[in-house]
Amino acid sequence: MNNKKLVFSGVQPTGNLHLGNYLGALKNFVLLQKESKCIYCVVDLHAITVFQKPETLRSNILETTAGFIASGLDPVKSIIFNQSSVSGHAELAWIFSCVSRLGWLNRMTQFKDKAGSDKEKASVGLYIYPNLMAADILLYKATHVPVGADQKQHLELSRDIAQKFNKDFNCAGFFPLPEPLIPKNVSRVMSLRDGTKKMSKTEESDYSRINLKDSADDIEKKIKKAKSDSSVIPDNIKSLENKPEAFNLLSIYSEVSKINLDKVLKEMSGKDYSYVKKNLTDLLISEICPVGKEIKKLMGDKTHLENILQKGSEKARIIAEENLKNIREKIGLI
Ligand code: ADP
Repeated sequence: MNNKKLVFSGVQPTGNLHLGNYLGALKNFVLLQKESKCIYCVVDLHAITVFQKPETLRSNILETTAGFIASGLDPVKSIIFNQSSVSGHAELAWIFSCVSRLGWLNRMTQFKDKAGSDKEKASVGLYIYPNLMAADILLYKATHVPVGADQKQHLELSRDIAQKFNKDFNCAGFFPLPEPLIPKNVSRVMSLRDGTKKMSKTEESDYSRINLKDSADDIEKKIKKAKSDSSVIPDNIKSLENKPEAFNLLSIYSEVSKINLDKVLKEMSGKDYSYVKKNLTDLLISEICPVGKEIKKLMGDKTHLENILQKGSEKARIIAEENLKNIREKIGLI
């Protein structure tokens, strides 16, 4: 156990967990739990930056918790809780909104993507989302953050906020500068329909993603329909440069099979894409379907899931309160 490393990460309860969440985040969460102290959070306050129906949100909070447990997280080893049950997240987010600069937030590409062309109508919460993310991490003085590549820019902002706070309040080293832990092979799983867009819970077409709760039939259908390429599989990565969908399918196969992409290409070159699709379907069915079944089973006992969150919140609150006391002191609040 490395005691200096403290891991924090979060997942939004905004709908079905998908293969991007699983390969980009959850699998890494489980590996890290073996060697480090970890805090994993269902970030419900982030979810409400976009309107959520209350009954749907309640159910999604529990289902994301079930997704954590079904993927292999252990609530005894790691702290598992939901963000809104520890009020320190919101308090520190306000403090950080006073440290963070408008210029920094203006550069965030996720806001531009999510707000779309009508950004006047986006919530203020969506705009200052990265300040809340910095608060989530630094409330626990976490040092390492396992995330997909889509969160890299937000994490850099967390480091800027930590650095500015340490400088403004003359307390070098008070907040650590958290480091991203981004998976090397598939840091960004792309949509099965458009290889230039990331696979996401909020993408309209269900055919764009593999959900953890998909049946074997769903997986087979979705992979069969996934965009690929009309030519045969090449023998080198460079030839995939302008073929984002083909690259995505082969990268997912490489990640799930644990065979590096060069070797996959050597093995499959000259075959058409139905070959990788068939192999990928079999692998996904054996890796994803058991997780989906476990999620459904866990959702049958909501009280158990609520208890996990409650116990996790109690543990998180103790760390958060102690750190917040010191933060308030540094600022001069009494
Ligand atoms: P979503 O974008 O589907 O709403 P979240 O924002 O809740 O998902 O992200 C939860 C975690 O999953 C984050 O660490 C994020 O980086 C990771 N993640 C989300 N989508 C992808 C993807 N398509 N590929 C890789 N990682 C992803």
